[in-house]
Amino acid sequence: MIVRLETTAPAEVTLTDLLPLSDSQGWHRAACRGDANHEAWFPYPSQDFDYAREVCAGCPIRASCGEFATRTSQSGVWGGHEFDRGRMIRE
Ligand code: SF4
Repeated sequence: MIVRLETTAPAEVTLTDLLPLSDSQGWHRAACRGDANHEAWFPYPSQDFDYAREVCAGCPIRASCGEFATRTSQSGVWGGHEFDRGRMIRE
């Protein structure tokens, strides 16, 4: 998952860049880490999210990522599914 920061930082960072590397979910192994296609992770309802889904399909922490999205009320594509405030809205 990718988030945009409202800071003076010169580059956008991914959520996985923000999470501690020591986190037991192993975010440092996330397949989306550093992905430059930011909009793909927040699709409009009329858009597919095939790109993000394909990246997630090869991610070693896919299951824990989706669980994290549910547990922490995230929106966007997590674990290959789209969430809205922690509720899966598209598989
Ligand atoms: S499952 Fe998808 S959104 Fe989650 S860390 Fe992996 S690539 Fe990123």
